Amino acid sequence: MNSFVAIFDVGTTSLKAALLSPHGATSHQRVVPLTTWTGTEGAVEQDTDHWFRALAEVATTWWHAGVNPSSIAMIAMTGQMQNLVPVDAKAGALCRAILYSDMRAAEESESVNQCFGESVLRAQLGNQVTAGSLLPKMIRWRNRNPELFARTSRFLFGAKDYLVLALCGKHVCDPTTASTTGLYLPGAQAWHASLLAAFGFAMDLMPEIRAPGDIAGNVSASACAQTGFLEGTPVICGLGDAAATTLGAGVTECHRPYLYLGTTGWIAHLLPAKDLLPPATDVIFTLAGADPGTALRLAPVLNAGNIVSWALTLVGCTPGDDPEKFFRILEEEAATVDGVGDLQFIPYLNAERCPIQTTSPNGALIGMSVTTTRAQILRSILEGLAQSLRWCAQLLDVQGDGNMRVIGGGTRNRIWLQSVADAFGRALHVSPDSDMLPALGVGLIAARSLGWAVDAKEFLRSASGAASSLVIPDASRSAALKQRYASFKRIAQTVVSMPR
Ligand code: ADP
Repeated sequence: MNSFVAIFDVGTTSLKAALLSPHGATSHQRVVPLTTWTGTEGAVEQDTDHWFRALAEVATTWWHAGVNPSSIAMIAMTGQMQNLVPVDAKAGALCRAILYSDMRAAEESESVNQCFGESVLRAQLGNQVTAGSLLPKMIRWRNRNPELFARTSRFLFGAKDYLVLALCGKHVCDPTTASTTGLYLPGAQAWHASLLAAFGFAMDLMPEIRAPGDIAGNVSASACAQTGFLEGTPVICGLGDAAATTLGAGVTECHRPYLYLGTTGWIAHLLPAKDLLPPATDVIFTLAGADPGTALRLAPVLNAGNIVSWALTLVGCTPGDDPEKFFRILEEEAATVDGVGDLQFIPYLNAERCPIQTTSPNGALIGMSVTTTRAQILRSILEGLAQSLRWCAQLLDVQGDGNMRVIGGGTRNRIWLQSVADAFGRALHVSPDSDMLPALGVGLIAARSLGWAVDAKEFLRSASGAASSLVIPDASRSAALKQRYASFKRIAQTVVSMPR
């Protein structure tokens, strides 16, 4: 009988899944859209039950398609990190998951930094404590929900960790997800006990830190009844999407940058963890890599594909419309103009982490005149996003030249890709089916623990199948963007620091 790893990626916009064979071939790909709830003061939340229903829905379609549940050798999951999911003793979520992009805990992050010292914390944790960090979110949530806090048995920090709990009743966290929390000591590979104690959180509220390939548990009888996975099917701890994506993109060598254009995005590279110097700036983050001894240094951006999706409203897309049609309209219209005149679009329509930190939206469109056209505005939105990413690369101290790999749902927008290639002055190497790369990355970890994947590169090559394409920078547009780069940065800094 066939044997598969069931791979899942709980992204922000959708849950993606597939079956991975011992030779690295994927089949039975599924995508289930997820809904994000946004509220006042920067609330960004998702329903944890929706994650589980999406997983169960995918599994059901597999059984209906003739997949035998006994062919599933292992379940491996990746997903969004830096989520706050408080659960009770019966493993039920006590509220909606508070997502990484939720910036309501700004005051609490200030008090954590004041209490422990910003630079002390940064040196210990390897990263700055911000409104997106988990301790400020935990403090804020506890203060506003004392009754729910009294019922809290654990906190979980990743979407896939909630699914691991729902499938097998175990509370786990991998080192990559842990290193996004602001509560993890990378040197000791342990939770920061004194930081937790200082703010009154007991250590037994924390999940157990496990290696990505460790078996976290086995599918329980009740999860079997809800999903159809056989009781006893092993479930690995898995790993956070940043490291899974890096592995899935085939980035296993140090100092090779790549770009992820999803709902949010990042530019990142792997570095040897040993003797790692702190980054030159607070807006760059350091996470544990998928493999021991590696660190993933990344410039995470909150304004990426979500801004392209917002731009669909400018071409008439309203809620309930098919976005595909409007993505096409946007691209076709943006492609009709070659230059954007003096327009500079500052893309921070949501809070931002990098290249500039802002807890409130700070977008702007500067340089309009009566001759400005909608096509120019669309083009300037894509260029503004590209300039901001270039700035991130500068802060990350990305070295070298040659092709840069680009992955994520945003790669479907060729004009945006062209703007990025032009802004970086570098050819982009684009994988056509890159949507599945995070799931493939965690699949590779599972395959290794099953003894399937001997050569990671070879395995990923056969898994990703279709040929990749190149986007070559246009010399004259590249020169124009280079010339406008300094003024883009200056305007962005002015807009973000403007008193309201
Ligand atoms: P995530 O997993 O974080 O939700 P994805 O990698 O799925 O992110 O990318 C989502 C982004 O991809 C959207 O925000 C949107 O900008 C972009 N996108 C999705 N579909 C299209 C399309 N047909 N054409 C262009 N861009 C698209």
